[in-house]
Amino acid sequence: MMQAFILRINMVLFASIIELEIWMKRIGAHVSASGGVENAPLNAAEIGANAFALFTKNQRQWVAKPLTAESIDAFKQNCADHGFSPEHILPHDSYLINLGHPDAEKLEKSRDAFLDEMQRCEQLDLKLLNFHPGSHLKLVSESECLSTIAESINWALDKTTGVTAVIENTAGQGSNLGFRFEHLAEIIDQVEDKARVGICIDTCHSFAAGYDLQTAESCATVFAEFEKVVGFNYLCGMHLNDSKKGLGSRVDRHHSLGQGVLGLEVFKYIMNDDRFDDIPMVLETIDETIWANEIKLLRSYES
Ligand SMILES: [Zn+2]
Ligand SMILES: [Zn+2]
Repeated sequence: MMQAFILRINMVLFASIIELEIWMKRIGAHVSASGGVENAPLNAAEIGANAFALFTKNQRQWVAKPLTAESIDAFKQNCADHGFSPEHILPHDSYLINLGHPDAEKLEKSRDAFLDEMQRCEQLDLKLLNFHPGSHLKLVSESECLSTIAESINWALDKTTGVTAVIENTAGQGSNLGFRFEHLAEIIDQVEDKARVGICIDTCHSFAAGYDLQTAESCATVFAEFEKVVGFNYLCGMHLNDSKKGLGSRVDRHHSLGQGVLGLEVFKYIMNDDRFDDIPMVLETIDETIWANEIKLLRSYES
């Protein structure tokens, strides 16, 4: 009897250790929400993800139909059924939005669209909204544009509750800002509610922007710089992508893991660093038919 009891205790302990190991890292992909947002958690579960990203509306259109009550309920139910909690879901806003637009009318259009994205997150009980900071379009200075972006964030946070604005670092293509950690820090500095602003680091964008992530040593240097300039306390998510273009190319072209010029070291590094625990880490790699394998590959690096 006693032996059986001890065995049982051991099994429970063992199971909880295994579970801890399994759940330390949250990995998924930016899955399709076609046919309704409620399909995204199903698509994520299918590839063995325990985190995911999605668009809550068509990312190439300004206006979208409101989410229906049925769709909202089904989304929440499917997330619960498959063990996805809101802090492991990283919705991405529309690519059309430019929160730093130098033109007042166009800025207003972007702000309204961003607010709509935030409100969709509120409706779905989501906690994070990932977006690219904005572009100066060569019409205003970098710092002017960064201030406009911060004002846009303040404006949207004022009108919503419970959703954190998660700024993604960029490759710095064209006049896109956010390709230096200093840009991210400058925006955060001007955001009033610091508890509701965060950062998502995209590995491909970082590399294209000139942050070398090809070796464990260079990863350590880059992430130490991130800690110094921005701070890991703001890190809310990661985009795990290899890059088709070289270091400092400032060109944003994602590739499948291990098939680009970035290579696999950065992913081994991330999977073994507890500063990346418990945040959604999402593949935006180009071949969705191998996402399940890419997730398995990442899991194999987790010690
Ligand atoms: Zn990204
Ligand atoms: Zn990208």
